[in-house]
Amino acid sequence: MIFNSQNILRRGQAIYTWGIGSMIDTADGSSLMLAGLDAWNHIMRPGQMSEPREVRFQDLRLQKKLGVNHFKLPPEYRQNVRGQRIHNTNIRLPFVRFPLSHYCPHCGSISINEDLYVYDPLDNIDGLLCPNGCNKYKPMVPSRFVCICEDGHIQDFPFTEWAHLDQNNEFVNCENPDIKMKEGLGPDLKDIIISCSGCGKGKSLYRMREVIVHAFPCEGKRPWLGEMDISHCDKDLRPTLRNASSVHNPIIKKSIYLINDANDIDERTMEIVRDWYDFLNVMDSGNETNDRHFEEISRRYEIPIQDLRAGFDDLNNQIQNTDVEIDTTEEDFRFLEYNAIATEQTSRELILEKCNFSNYPASFAKYFENITLVHRLRETTAFCGFTRINPPTGDETQEKIKQLWKRPYLINDENNWLPALWSRGEGIFIVLNDSFLNQWKNDNNVKNRVKNILGRYENYFSTFENIDHTFMAIHTLSHILINQISYECGYGSASIKERIYFSPNPENKMAGLLLYTTGDSEGSMGGLVRLGKPEYFGDILMNAIDNAKWCSADPVCIESEGQGIDGTNLAACHNCSLVSETSCECGNRLLDRSLLINDKYGFFRGL
Ligand SMILES: [Zn+2]
Ligand SMILES: [Zn+2]
Ligand SMILES: [Zn+2]
Ligand SMILES: [Zn+2]
Ligand SMILES: [Zn+2]
Repeated sequence: MIFNSQNILRRGQAIYTWGIGSMIDTADGSSLMLAGLDAWNHIMRPGQMSEPREVRFQDLRLQKKLGVNHFKLPPEYRQNVRGQRIHNTNIRLPFVRFPLSHYCPHCGSISINEDLYVYDPLDNIDGLLCPNGCNKYKPMVPSRFVCICEDGHIQDFPFTEWAHLDQNNEFVNCENPDIKMKEGLGPDLKDIIISCSGCGKGKSLYRMREVIVHAFPCEGKRPWLGEMDISHCDKDLRPTLRNASSVHNPIIKKSIYLINDANDIDERTMEIVRDWYDFLNVMDSGNETNDRHFEEISRRYEIPIQDLRAGFDDLNNQIQNTDVEIDTTEEDFRFLEYNAIATEQTSRELILEKCNFSNYPASFAKYFENITLVHRLRETTAFCGFTRINPPTGDETQEKIKQLWKRPYLINDENNWLPALWSRGEGIFIVLNDSFLNQWKNDNNVKNRVKNILGRYENYFSTFENIDHTFMAIHTLSHILINQISYECGYGSASIKERIYFSPNPENKMAGLLLYTTGDSEGSMGGLVRLGKPEYFGDILMNAIDNAKWCSADPVCIESEGQGIDGTNLAACHNCSLVSETSCECGNRLLDRSLLINDKYGFFRGL
C-alpha cells in the first residue's frame, strides 16, 4: 500500500499494521519507519497538544499486566480550520527514513545518505536524486533489501562490502568504491549483481543468506529510536526483502474492560478522575492527598468536591483490588473476564444478559452451559512492541516494550505508556456444557484424532497453556459461527472478532468463547446481540453445523492430516473454516471441523 506523506496512518493502522519499527512506502517513493515512543512524547508534548486528555486513557487491568501507567491513542493528523476550534492540530506521527540505501532504477547506482535520516514530509527530496545526474527528476528508490536479527535490530544491506568480498568471503580493500546494482530478468538472486565501478570487483546475491551470516555481524542498530551507532549483538544477521512479513510481527494485547461500580458516580466525573488521577494522588507532607489539587480540578470542571473525592476513592479502591500483576498469566487474566461474564457481573462498561435455556431448542442444554448476550463491552488493544524473524511467543513482552523507548525503562514508572485503542462493542458469549465436554474429551477416537497435530503446535503463541482438543473444538466452533453469521446476516466477516476462553486447569477452568464487534463496524448497534437470542441463535448454530459437514474441497479437506500454516489444521481450509486474519486470534491455526461434526465422535454429532 502506498501512503500520502501528509497524512500517513489512521489510528488503527499505527497499532495493528504499521506499528513502531515497521516500514511503510509513501506516495513520494520514500520508505519510512514509525519512530519510538520518545519521539511520540516529543510531538505530543504539552505545548504541542492543546488537549492532551483527548488521547490519554486507562484500562487498569491491562496497565498492571503490562507494567505501564496509562495508554495513549495514536494522534490523528488534523488541520486548523479558520473559525473553528479544533484540538490537537498539526500533529504528525514521527517517522525516520529507513532503509538509508537507495538505488537508481536508471543507472543502478547505490548510495547511502545518512543525512536523510529524520523524515520531514515537507522535505524536498533532492538528496535522493542520482549522483550521476541521470533521470534528473526521478528520485532514487529505497533498497529492496535490509538485514534483520532475532533481537529486533535492523540495518542496511551491506552493498559496498558485498561487492568487495573475494571467493573466500573476505573483504578486499577498495580506494574508491562506486557501487552499482544490476538486476536480471527473473527473480533469481543469482541474476542480481552488486559491483564496484571503482575497482571492477563484483558479486551476485547468490547464497545471500549463508554469506551474510558468515561474513557480517549484526550491528545492533535500532533506527526507530534514532540509534544508528553500532552495539554488540551476537544474533545471526539475516538479509530479507524490506516488505517481507517476518520483518515486523506486532505484539498486540487485548483486554475486556472490567470495573466495579461500587458507588454510583457518574461517568463524566469518573473520566475526569481517571485522567487526573496522578495529579490528585500527589501527597502533601502529612501523607494526605492534597486539598488544593482537588479544589483546582473541582473548579476547573465544575464538579462538587465531595463527588470528586468519592470518585477518587472509588478508583483507588479499584486499583488496589485489581487482581493483576506484571507476572499474571494470560490465562489468569482472561479468567477474570470469563468469570465476570459467566456470573453476569454487569457494570457500566459491561452490560450482560444471561439467557434462559428454556427458550432455546431443547438439545441446547446438553451442549451449552451458558449463552450470555453482551449488550455492551469495551475493548482495549495495546501495541506492545514487535519481533522480527520469529512470531511473538508471549513470554518476551516486557523485553519488547523496552525496545520502544530510548530512555531507560522502569516497570510501573508513571511516565510509561503504550499506544493503544479503545472501543465499545457488543457480543455473544458461549460456554460449553462441562459434563458433556468431559465425557467427549475422554473419547479415544477424539484423542487419536488430534494426537499428531498438537505436537506441531508447541512453537506457537503461549497465549493458551496446555492446548488440547477441547481448545480446537472451541476454536473451530468460533470460526464456523463467524462464517455463518456473516453469511446469513451480511456482516463483513472481518468485523466479527473472537476471544477464546480456555483452560483445563481446575482453578481457572474455562471452555467458552466471545464473538464480538466493536467501534463503528457494522452491527455494533444491537445487531450481533440480537442474533444470540433464541429465535435466531438456534438456527444459526444448526446451519453452521450443517454447513461444516461439507466443504467444496472435500474429500481432500476432510481427509487432511495437516494443512494450512505449518500444517497446524486438520479438516479446515479456506473453503470451510478459516476466517479473516483480523477476526482470528490464533492466526487461523488449530482448527478441525471433524471434531464438531464427525458421525462417531463429533461434539455436535447428536444435534
Ligand atoms: Zn542514476
Ligand atoms: Zn571497489
Ligand atoms: Zn542484533
Ligand atoms: Zn475445507
Ligand atoms: Zn480463530
